[in-house]
Amino acid sequence: MTSQACVFGNPIAQSRSPIIHHHFAKQFDIPLKYTKIAPSLSGFAPAVEQFFSCANAVGANVTLPFKEEAFQLADELSSHAKRASAVNTLINLNGTIRGDNTDGRGLIADLKYHGVDLANKSVLLLGAGGAAKGSLPAIIDAKPNSVYIYNRTPSKAKSLVDSTENYASCQVACFSGGDSEKAFDLIINATSLSLHDEVPSVPKSVFCENSIAYDMVYLDKPTSFMEFARHSGSQVQIDGLGMLIEQAALSFQQWFNEHPKTEGLRHQLRK
Ligand code: NDP
Repeated sequence: MTSQACVFGNPIAQSRSPIIHHHFAKQFDIPLKYTKIAPSLSGFAPAVEQFFSCANAVGANVTLPFKEEAFQLADELSSHAKRASAVNTLINLNGTIRGDNTDGRGLIADLKYHGVDLANKSVLLLGAGGAAKGSLPAIIDAKPNSVYIYNRTPSKAKSLVDSTENYASCQVACFSGGDSEKAFDLIINATSLSLHDEVPSVPKSVFCENSIAYDMVYLDKPTSFMEFARHSGSQVQIDGLGMLIEQAALSFQQWFNEHPKTEGLRHQLRK
């Protein structure tokens, strides 16, 4: 029987998830139909119910703007989802819908692929939206020395810092921007600004020669954030395509108990 999976989001036309998951399924000869579903802003819950009423629905990915609603409606939650208060993966366990969040582990897997280990590093996380929220638990699990968070709306950065109170094993604090002499080992852009060719308003001094700049956005050219980092002295810049692939691989693994290889897809999607 052909398994069914999907991605819920609105808008969703641009999503590459069907290409990614069909590529993974092929590796294991798993018959899979993976579709894109764009519920109306008030129509997420009924769309999920309808999708999972289908006997061969194994799971779903969830993207903007439904990750928090998915967190509310899942029957049970992984520890990653609980700490992030957001769900990007739904798994059908014989009718019980489990919610997980693979964004952060996808980010860490991609950093590892690029030879970046966060242990004892100083991290600056830019943004406090869904992507930052989803990634922060896994960033903290990777045992950095400190994580500073900067966001245009400071109250959201503060809430994100506060949300780590019960589990953070390192220093987690707000970064106020402005003039700073402090350079970070890793600066992660979890804002959507690169989609508009803009950059977060942090000083150039957050970068130094050894800083690694990571932009969760990916385009067919270096993003504005990657360019900003390069002009500010950073020698290594990475975009978010690998994170997209790795977080999808972690979803796929939970649906089919198989972890797909991601290397080939990295090259295919880059073309
Ligand atoms: P949200 O809408 O939840 O958050 C957007 C973030 O960007 C907020 O921190 C927001 O700040 C900030 N922002 C938006 N516009 C501006 C602006 N004009 N000036 C300053 N800050 C701004 O989006 P997500 O967190 O879900 O996603 C963020 C990006 O990450 C997206 O572009 C998405 O494509 C990418 N992403 C990539 C993934 C991958 O696998 N590679 C996975 C998930 C996301 P404020 O709070 O002040 O509004």
